[in-house]
Amino acid sequence: MHAKRGLSILLVLLLTACSGAQTAAPGPSASAVQSARQEIAGLDAIEQNRSAAENRAMTARAWQRVRPAISDMCAHFETQNCDYKLVWSDEDTPNAYADGESVYMFNGLVKYMENEAQVAQVLAHEAGHNIADHPSKGTRNTVAGALAGAVLGGLLGAAVDSDLAAQGVAVGAAVGGTAGRLSYSKEYEREADYVGAYITARAGYDLGEARGIYRQLGALSGGVRTTSIFDSHPASPDRLAGFDAAAQEIEGGNPWPVLR
Ligand SMILES: [Zn+2]
Repeated sequence: MHAKRGLSILLVLLLTACSGAQTAAPGPSASAVQSARQEIAGLDAIEQNRSAAENRAMTARAWQRVRPAISDMCAHFETQNCDYKLVWSDEDTPNAYADGESVYMFNGLVKYMENEAQVAQVLAHEAGHNIADHPSKGTRNTVAGALAGAVLGGLLGAAVDSDLAAQGVAVGAAVGGTAGRLSYSKEYEREADYVGAYITARAGYDLGEARGIYRQLGALSGGVRTTSIFDSHPASPDRLAGFDAAAQEIEGGNPWPVLR
């Protein structure tokens, strides 16, 4: 009787441990979400006046700066594999994603970013997915996922830029389209934004500058209809307001994400 009950409790604990967020991100108030909605409404995403090479260089700089903070956060979460690579694509698809081992960044997304802090927040968000082990827990589109893996595997062997390789940046081309169609729950997106905000802050970036990425994503999501970051990352006022709530917690002196 007791043994059976003990087993049931153990099963419940195991199931709980296998799903859901590990962190307790602060939920934004309804009025904060409403303000964020008004802030995003009518915004146009503006392509910045930079070449793809400049976007790539900016991404490499941001990666170099967030990497130690990613490692620290990864150790804090006691995640096993923390040595993530950055994979850059010149492709015009506005996308970024993570697969548990690498973080993938597309020129088509970076070209809309207003500053390096916004690039850092996207890299930190994607690393946050890896740190919180979302790729193994999330819903993977197996066909697209397998295809993307094959395409990336083939390209990465051939095309690694020597200047960026020193910074741990691999260079891929034409990895968009079918790539990166990992979809996560809203809960995991919130967790990645939350963990990402801590990484960005710990890397020394200004969260006031970084928050603009959620304005840009909100503006972009109105017009983009192709396979992109919006398949897996619903842009919404909740994310902007959620980021602000996380920033407030961090600026209040909290050193690490609050664990459940
Ligand atoms: Zn995400």
